[in-house]
Amino acid sequence: MASIVDFKCPSCGAKLPFSGKTGEMTCEYCDASFSVEEIKAIAEEEAASAGSDMSWESSTPDVIKGEDGKVSGYLCKNCGAEMVADENTAATECPYCGNFSIIPTAFEGAYKPDLVIPFAVDKQAAKDKLKDFVKGKKLLPSEFTQGNRIDKITGVYVPFWLYKCHASGSVTFEGVKSKRWEDSEYEYVKKDHYNIVRSGDMDFEGIPVDASKEMDDATMDSIEPFDLSKAVEYDPMYFSGYLSSRYDVEEKDCRPRADERVINTFRNKMRDEVNNYEEVSEKSKNIRLSNASAKYAMLPVWLMTTRYDNKTYSYGINGQTGKMVGSLPVDKGKYMMHLIIAIVLSLAVLFAGAYFLLGGISTGAVIGCVVAAIIIGFIYVSILKGGMNTIAVKKTAENYVNQNSVRVEHTRDRFMYSKTDKTKKQTQN
Ligand SMILES: [Zn+2]
Ligand SMILES: [Zn+2]
Repeated sequence: MASIVDFKCPSCGAKLPFSGKTGEMTCEYCDASFSVEEIKAIAEEEAASAGSDMSWESSTPDVIKGEDGKVSGYLCKNCGAEMVADENTAATECPYCGNFSIIPTAFEGAYKPDLVIPFAVDKQAAKDKLKDFVKGKKLLPSEFTQGNRIDKITGVYVPFWLYKCHASGSVTFEGVKSKRWEDSEYEYVKKDHYNIVRSGDMDFEGIPVDASKEMDDATMDSIEPFDLSKAVEYDPMYFSGYLSSRYDVEEKDCRPRADERVINTFRNKMRDEVNNYEEVSEKSKNIRLSNASAKYAMLPVWLMTTRYDNKTYSYGINGQTGKMVGSLPVDKGKYMMHLIIAIVLSLAVLFAGAYFLLGGISTGAVIGCVVAAIIIGFIYVSILKGGMNTIAVKKTAENYVNQNSVRVEHTRDRFMYSKTDKTKKQTQN
């Protein structure tokens, strides 16, 4: 049984990647385009005439196993070179000849994706997005944009668990309503404390949690959302031209990240129903999650990682929507230079202004100008730094609530006690 597949152009025999731009298999050499269905039909026909059930079956096994019996690589069907891989590798590219290889056995059994979202953004569009993202970022190290670094962006199908569950329960709050008045001597504040309970239930569906140890959680969270209505059934053809590894984090081990988001969203929904109080604090919660299940999905991501100053920076582009996220490194030299220029310039402007307005400069005015210039300098560089990091771990799942399922009940708004504070008025003599 052969273990790798590569798709070739039926017209010229060149590499045939799945193109995000056309949504079809488009030949890299002759530009011919074929729908996934057409390629499937051709492959089936060839298989029938070859008397085998898979056209891509080869006589020599192409798996390379290490001494421990585990997969250590595959032989490229095009050039015969050894491609390093592990048992989780599902799609890869030959580093010697660039041939695309898909390993269908990595998608078998429990590893068969329930759904795939095919790439809709092609490599050129991804590179343009990245160029736009770095454009005008004055603090970015020059080596970052130099050369062909941006060309190293890679298309990856990332394994995700998409969680679904029902949440029900209640959240208890303490709320305060206050009244203020005064007499000739005192100011009074009376605080009425209430015990508040909101309860309800709601359904969540499609909360994505990446199932790959290698992927940065914050980057994967930040490229959400994906449009699941465009998902298709798994087919190896969508993986032609991309990298992919099957999941290496079990569904149950990813679940706590989805549960946390569900619980926080449930709390927020209940909190939104506590109105007309001046102060509100959450006291306790009792939330049950039930009917939980997960689907296994392969989602398209353009990725680039860069090391700078011993830290790893990663950028991700949602391969379906084109949403770009990332954390860009700050060049310390450029940071200092912009800070100093901003301080010197504002100092010059402030001195000129002070001289013009006051007709001379006192020691007090000098100190004032210097302090103001330093503050302006720091504000300026922090503005330059803004937008250089757009990734963060997601803590809520409000996009995944089925709005029709939301039910909230005002279970209790019970008065508990009042407390009145009085403060003596400041008498002015
Ligand atoms: Zn061709
Ligand atoms: Zn090769």
